[in-house]
Amino acid sequence: MSKSNPELRGIGMTSARTRARLIERLLDQGISHPKVLACFEAVPRHLFVDEALGHKAYEDISVPIGYAQTLSQPYIVAKMSELVMAAPHHERILEIGTGSGFQTCVLANLVDEVFSVERIKPLQEKAKARLKTLRLNNVHLKMADGFLGWPDQAPFDVIIGTAAPKEPPPELVDQLIPDGGRLIMPIGEEKQYLTVIDKVDDELIIQKIEPVLFVPMLSGVKQQ
Ligand code: SAH
Repeated sequence: MSKSNPELRGIGMTSARTRARLIERLLDQGISHPKVLACFEAVPRHLFVDEALGHKAYEDISVPIGYAQTLSQPYIVAKMSELVMAAPHHERILEIGTGSGFQTCVLANLVDEVFSVERIKPLQEKAKARLKTLRLNNVHLKMADGFLGWPDQAPFDVIIGTAAPKEPPPELVDQLIPDGGRLIMPIGEEKQYLTVIDKVDDELIIQKIEPVLFVPMLSGVKQQ
């Protein structure tokens, strides 16, 4: 990341000191993976929200990104990233729900190849522009209904979802590598749990990690 570009470096509330405080908070919350923590130090989170909300980007809260969607609080993005890093394989990742592109950017700094689908076109376009500014060349974006995954690019080592379906979507489970694939997503309707589903020899091992509150995963695409 360019240190000379003031927009990327950030000023005031988005300064290095603000980011250092965020890292301290993540450590207190039990995040310990050095690469994940390094990402939160490096990725300019304020660039993923509207300018007026830039000062909120480093707080321990979710931030609205328009279209009734939110960028998750730093802890949740970090926790999910740690679960990605703990998967037996994590070279090729599919993300459902690009949203602001922040989680996509964090993942792009951690793994070889990130594929990400989003169903709301204006969000996808904004995310695409941001990720281009950051010159990430291992990210592939597509407008699509994430319930269908990305069949042409399957199988994936890990599929991560940032919107909550009622049940694990069968297409996503199918698109995981048969031995060692991992699905990480919030699952549930009234009560949601961050859930990890590991595929071991085509058997599924399900772990509920912790209660969470994500936007619901919805079918179909929205052009505006
Ligand atoms: N990871 C995002 C979080 C965005 S909120 C970020 O870092 O900002 C969840 C996103 O999932 C929203 O953008 C929403 O439009 C998207 N989404 C919901 N259902 C989806 C589906 N079926 N396919 C693709 N994206 C979906």
